[in-house]
This record gives sequence, C-alpha cells and structure tokens, in this order.
Amino acid sequence: MRIFVFDLDFTLWDAGGGWCDTTNPPYTWENGRLLDSCGDWIRLYDDVIDILKELKEQNKHVVAASRTYQPGWAQDLLHMFDIDQYFDLKEIYPSSKIKHFRRIQNHFKVPYSKMVFFDDEHRNIHEVGGLGVRAVYVNDGINHRMLRPYI
Ligand SMILES: [Mg+2]
Repeated sequence: MRIFVFDLDFTLWDAGGGWCDTTNPPYTWENGRLLDSCGDWIRLYDDVIDILKELKEQNKHVVAASRTYQPGWAQDLLHMFDIDQYFDLKEIYPSSKIKHFRRIQNHFKVPYSKMVFFDDEHRNIHEVGGLGVRAVYVNDGINHRMLRPYI
C-alpha cells in the first residue's frame, strides 16, 4: 500500500473517553499527561508514534481523515502530541468520509486500491470500503499488529 489514512478519535487517540469535540480546550501537559481544562486525560495509543515514524521511513504517504465538529481542536492535539509533522495531508471537517477520500485521491492521484484506511466506526468502514479502499476496523486503537499486513 502507498497511502495510509487514519481516523483520529479512538483510532490514534482516546480523548478523555470521548471524541475530541467533546473536550474542553485549552490543553496542557502535566506530569507527562495531556489534559484538557477539566482535567480529562487525552492519550495517544501506545504504538502511534512508532507507526507514524515507520511509515515515513518507508516513504509512505500518511493522511489524517476525521469528521470531527471541531477541526481546530483536533489540529491543536496533533500539534500538542508533536505528530503533526508526520502527515502529508489532513482532511478534517464534518462530512461523510467519501468526501475526504475523494480529496485524498485528487491530491495524490493514486487509485483507491493503493490506499488503506483505519477507523473505529463501521459506518465509515462501510462507506469508504465501497470506494475500493482497503478499510480496516479498529477495535481498541491502532497498533503494530494491525499495520503489519499492509506495509
Ligand atoms: Mg473515530
């Protein structure tokens, strides 16, 4: 696969037990934990940074595709976690993810069959899979084992 597309909420991170658009910015680091202003802990899943580094080392394209209602907050979190640097493209806005993938396809000019997509919601897996993208359901955050068949 040439293009690796990741959902954000419950795929790369757990935003205090909810979606990032239910958090309360601003975010601050305290004792190694990223907290929102209510003290809820927003955490990356354990393998995320290693996975993103590995994909970039292999010259893969890495894309974020989120339908959050608070794109600015998602962008803040990417920055606070210092993982913004790994993404070649970010498509972050509310909409069916069909729109996100049309824009990804238009940007890279790569067929859907060369893309793999990880997401924790069946509706997104179903819609995007219908385009011909390899869509992989994520149960408890992304991990190395899930990536392995596609690298
Ligand atoms: Mg999600």
